[in-house]
Amino acid sequence: MIVGGGVVGCSIAYHLARRGLSDVVVLEREAVGAGTTSKAAGGIRVQFPCETEIRFSLESIEVFERFRDEFGVDPGYTKIGYLYLVSDEPRLRGFERQMALQRSLGADVRLIAPGDAQKLVPALRVDDLIAAVWGPQDGMAGPAEVTNAFARRARELGARILEGVEATALELAGGRVTGVATRDGAIATPLAINAAGPTAARVGRFARVELPVHPRRRHIFFTEPFPEIPGPVPLTSDVASGFYFRKELEQVLLSPGDVEDIGEDFTVPMDWSKVADAVEKAVHRVPVLERARIAGGWAGLRPLTPDDHAIIGWAPGVEGFFLAVGFGGHGFQHSPATGRHVAEWLLDGRSSLDLSLFDPARFARGGAATSPPSR
Ligand SMILES: Cc1cc2nc3c(=O)[nH]c(=O)nc-3n(C[C@H](O)[C@H](O)[C@H](O)COP(=O)(O)OP(=O)(O)OC[C@H]3O[C@@H](n4cnc5c(N)ncnc54)[C@H](O)[C@@H]3O)c2cc1C
Repeated sequence: MIVGGGVVGCSIAYHLARRGLSDVVVLEREAVGAGTTSKAAGGIRVQFPCETEIRFSLESIEVFERFRDEFGVDPGYTKIGYLYLVSDEPRLRGFERQMALQRSLGADVRLIAPGDAQKLVPALRVDDLIAAVWGPQDGMAGPAEVTNAFARRARELGARILEGVEATALELAGGRVTGVATRDGAIATPLAINAAGPTAARVGRFARVELPVHPRRRHIFFTEPFPEIPGPVPLTSDVASGFYFRKELEQVLLSPGDVEDIGEDFTVPMDWSKVADAVEKAVHRVPVLERARIAGGWAGLRPLTPDDHAIIGWAPGVEGFFLAVGFGGHGFQHSPATGRHVAEWLLDGRSSLDLSLFDPARFARGGAATSPPSR
């Protein structure tokens, strides 16, 4: 039984069903993909700091490349690349360390001069940059297309995805999961998988498991059609300010890179005063955007953890309660690998990849800072 029909829950359901598990059930309180997955920018990058995450990226990129064949759906996958703009030495050193690891694992990442970054995106201001990091292997795809494809294939393979059904409690006996309660009654199961995205901590408390998953709001705005920046352009991120942008058809998508605690209010109201912040950062880095008009925007919650790594594994102290939560700003792009490795773990007793980076017990052991994130 999977609680949560976002991209993570649907990928797990698909992979379990594909491996032959016949009684997979997903409970989704709204509709498939309606949670924070519907707010994602669709970015896919190989540029992560740790080996396991880089391997997740490489594996997921392979899936996005063959997605159309495997799922019969065009996920809108495009290799637009990621371009990180670096303006200070300490950050550059950090990028260099990460690039060495990424390259040792076969990723294509390149350190380039500011002038070369400007050749990739002519509208950039580069006089205050010292370098850029270019990932031509990186790209984007459509979160809705991918999630719906996982869900559809999972259903075809026998999984039941119940929409409009909210899990309200876990039923436990002798420290073991025995069922999941909903408003329409309980469903017996020896296994509950928490894939509840930004609501993961609340679902964890169903079994008195404290999860450091902190939902933090981020805005994305879009302009009216803006041909002055011809597309496609790489997803370009100004590391110092957190601002990033890319083209979406004729429009420019831009984010101030905000990180805000709005409490456990999951309706995610927009704060339109963030437009000014986004525009200021945008015009500094891409002066021509001064002529663009903001046409709209949205806000979503990124389910962050204190060390920015996901939490994957058995919940400590409760038999039958599995966690696949805390995916921060990368849950969409890592969903193909997440689903496959969770299915391996559950069906084979272990994953073929060392997933200790995501160990749910690391916080209690002091293996990661436990304070809420500031990113
Ligand atoms: C502005 C923004 C930009 C982003 N950009 C990117 C990006 O470029 N690339 C990337 O990889 N990621 C990005 N992300 C992050 C990405 O959206 C998330 O990491 C990912 O969607 C998490 O998926 P999920 O399935 O865990 O969560 P969700 O999509 O939230 O799914 C969880 C589901 O659980 C359901 N649920 C919760 N509680 C219950 C309950 N009690 N009973 C039943 N159902 C329940 C919810 O309704 C929800 O549908 C971005 C996020 C934001 C906010």
